[in-house]
Amino acid sequence: YFVDDPFNEQKQLTIVGEAARHISKVMRMQKGEHIIVVQDGIAYVCTILSVGQEVIVEQTEETIPSPEMPIQVDIACGLPKGDKLEFIAQKGTELGMHGLIPFAAERSIVKWDHQKIGRKMERLSKIAQEAAEQSHRTFVPIISPPLSFQQLLEKFPDYDAVFVADEEEAKGEHTRFADKLKKVYDKESKSILFIFGPEGGLSRKEVEAFKEKGAIPVALGPRILRAETAPLYVLSAISYEFE
Ligand code: SAM
Repeated sequence: YFVDDPFNEQKQLTIVGEAARHISKVMRMQKGEHIIVVQDGIAYVCTILSVGQEVIVEQTEETIPSPEMPIQVDIACGLPKGDKLEFIAQKGTELGMHGLIPFAAERSIVKWDHQKIGRKMERLSKIAQEAAEQSHRTFVPIISPPLSFQQLLEKFPDYDAVFVADEEEAKGEHTRFADKLKKVYDKESKSILFIFGPEGGLSRKEVEAFKEKGAIPVALGPRILRAETAPLYVLSAISYEFE
């Protein structure tokens, strides 16, 4: 459970609200059982002292290793249709994604209604939080509001390396993307941005603009993956290669 309130000097903490309700009513946990409380990116194994409307817990000596990826991977995806972004938010979180940046790609059919952005962002953040808890992560991925193409380009300097998944690269002979990543990673790269197109893919103009700004084009194998599958493939492959 992600809890903001700090532990007191006795290393105890009172959990209230939705988290307390989840512990008592959904999980039906009892005094003496253990839960994991995450605060500022650190996971504490705690013993439950009492369960009611509030749940009081105390830290144990036990520690758990960080479940976070050694590389921070942000996923930028051209706004997809329907609930695909929610799917990427949930599954990407399970697979260790650090952040999700939707952007208005040339071939994005969906346009986000400005009045609905607040509600959509809330929903995406809730999905990420629940998925992070379920996966015992110590970090809830940051979900960015949708960016314009230009705003996405302006983000490049925030990263050690930027990659763009380009299906044109997948035609014919190509270097495995993990090998391209390893080259960068060897140079102490700690945060990367990975860009994906929407259902209709990225236009050549977009790919060229990304490359001009320094993005490295990569192939994700010989098969064309769906817009929602491609980021999950990348996260799985990074986890396999580096964890
Ligand atoms: N039409 C399908 C759909 O409805 O989802 C396929 C979409 S695919 C064109 C979407 C994006 O996934 C591409 O723009 C690219 O970023 C990425 N992608 C999918 N397969 C790929 C591959 N084999 N190599 C590189 N990028 C790939």
